[in-house]
Amino acid sequence: MHKEQKKSSKTSTKKTTVIGGSSDYVSESSTHQINETNNSEIIDYKYLFDALYAGTFVMDEYGKILLVNKAFESLTLYSKHELVELNFNSLLTDKFTGELMGIESTHNKANTNLHEVRLKRKDSKLIWCIVSISKIEKNQSGKDVYLAQIHSISDIKKSEEKNKKDKELLNYLINSIPENIYVKDINSQFIYVNKSMAQQLGHLYPEELISKSDFDYFPQKTAKKLYDDEQEIIRTGHPKINMEEKLISKKGRIRWYSTSKMPWFDENGNVIGIIGIGLDITDLKEEQRKLKKAKRLAEKADQLKSSFLANMSHEIRTPLNGILGFSQFLRNKDLSVDKKNRYLDIILSSGNQLLGLINDIIDISKIDSGQLRLNCNSFSLNNLLNQLYVYFKEELVRQKKTGIYLELKKTLSELDTFIVSDELRIKQVLINLLSNAMKFTNRGSIIFGCERIDQNLTFFVKDTGIGIKEKLQSEIFERFRQVDSSYAREYGGTGLGLAISKGLIELLEGEIWVESKTNKGSTFWFTVPFIPGQKPAESPLDISQISINWEDKKILVVEDDEFSYQLLETLFEDKKIKLLHASDGLKAIQIVKNSKNIDMVLMDIKLPDIDGYTATAKIKSIQKKLPVIAQTAYASEDEKNKCLQAGCDDYIEKPLKIEKLQEILEKYLKKK
Ligand code: ADP
Repeated sequence: MHKEQKKSSKTSTKKTTVIGGSSDYVSESSTHQINETNNSEIIDYKYLFDALYAGTFVMDEYGKILLVNKAFESLTLYSKHELVELNFNSLLTDKFTGELMGIESTHNKANTNLHEVRLKRKDSKLIWCIVSISKIEKNQSGKDVYLAQIHSISDIKKSEEKNKKDKELLNYLINSIPENIYVKDINSQFIYVNKSMAQQLGHLYPEELISKSDFDYFPQKTAKKLYDDEQEIIRTGHPKINMEEKLISKKGRIRWYSTSKMPWFDENGNVIGIIGIGLDITDLKEEQRKLKKAKRLAEKADQLKSSFLANMSHEIRTPLNGILGFSQFLRNKDLSVDKKNRYLDIILSSGNQLLGLINDIIDISKIDSGQLRLNCNSFSLNNLLNQLYVYFKEELVRQKKTGIYLELKKTLSELDTFIVSDELRIKQVLINLLSNAMKFTNRGSIIFGCERIDQNLTFFVKDTGIGIKEKLQSEIFERFRQVDSSYAREYGGTGLGLAISKGLIELLEGEIWVESKTNKGSTFWFTVPFIPGQKPAESPLDISQISINWEDKKILVVEDDEFSYQLLETLFEDKKIKLLHASDGLKAIQIVKNSKNIDMVLMDIKLPDIDGYTATAKIKSIQKKLPVIAQTAYASEDEKNKCLQAGCDDYIEKPLKIEKLQEILEKYLKKK
């Protein structure tokens, strides 16, 4: 207030009307507070007061409203009449009357108090307002009067709230996405990072990274490279998009990122830092690596298959050449008996070689398709080892490898020799290992054996042959794998033997491995669980001892293949046995019906009309006791079971092995 005003207030008279001149808007007590003048300015003040944009009112030191303007009416929705005499506090949600005490005279402008209050409007709506209160000169009665101006800040509050929500949403968004997001200043120091980034760098809270740099987290070389990249962006203003970065932390943890870094511009277009987004692509990289590896392996497998086919072709052609070539020579009528026998030996061994190859292929496909079934029984392991010893001793002589000393070193104690396992499969693995030992050894020794170690049987085959390079020692157990494809030419083989052996040993729940040194030799080991067995009951027939009077015997051969029948005919030539021939199942049944004194039927299974199983069942229904022996080329355990189920008494594989046939004949013909 100006001095003149002050002066005039001092000269005020008993008139009760102040500002605006109308007692309508004024409480009684207010008459003392406002300067009383009688000139035209009074009117101006009243309009001035009402014209104020802000809600304005005057109150006493207790908050009682003395005077209000129109803007205050509009703000509160109360009329002047309702407002005057009302305590300002009653319009607020939180009272602050006490604070008025501290407000000094308006002369001291610094004492203008600003308060954020929540005003209850007449319609009960709450609105946020700012109130500024200044103390006016005490009136005549000595009471303090206060001038208050009040603005609605609801809109500001609303937009503040919206900003807050937007910020929270943005924060939530940035912290929820898996990408690393960060902002750095021109010195490449972090000024903002999201949660993902903080976690990647080993922090729980993003704030912990502020003012740190890559030098705090990565080795000097890595950090320097990142720094240089960022400084280049800051210098040039050009972003770097989708860079692949391999980052190794100080602790040696390797992560891959796909990173984009952009310059951060201020409003004047100056670069003030960089904004980075990085996606952790370590898993993707790992997948890519695996795919690449798988591709390499597939290519390798392809190569292996090609070389397998080449080997296979070689393996098939070699014995076939023998068979075809020497069969031609046999046509020569002038051939000496000696030569004839030699040629026949070659044909026989070539045939056996081919059979071995076919068996290998069947075995590997059965292992692959999980169709190979074990047939576990009690048997004497020492017997098996002795048989193999005798066989390979002869084989060394046959192959003219007499410079090799063969030894069966370890066998089981008499107590342990009877075990339960698949004799045939153990034999197969040992034959494969011993054949390889023989194949790849030219001089020195081959020692093999087996010992019981706790609950396992450990077998070994040790040779002093060419050995296997260390890095190839695990690969040779893979199918078609040979140390060198040139070996196939030098030593033969298809690279299936060890893969089959591994498959069989795994099926038997054991392990197989090799220890080897180039040019010093190899030792193959394998284990199978030791399951104690029992001595099988002695067979009442010692077939090698018996002799049969062949002359009174009659055998019906059911065989559609002329050559196979001729083979049997040749076999029985010397025995003066009577052979009957049926080229199909129906003829066989007819013969059995007509002739009562047949001693045995050799039944081919694959026949043109009804198959061997059906024919057997029919024959058995005619003559129950007549022994029927199945002969088939499908050499499998399933096949054997199928034959037995059809009523066959026994089973013999094709091509026929004379010893086995003789064994069968003696067994069943002796029975009669
Ligand atoms: P194959 O003998 O038919 O080639 P295998 O699977 O039995 O197939 O053997 C695979 C490869 O392992 C052989 O070609 C040979 O390179 C190597 N190998 C196996 N046994 C021996 C051994 N006793 N000494 C040296 N190399 C061996």
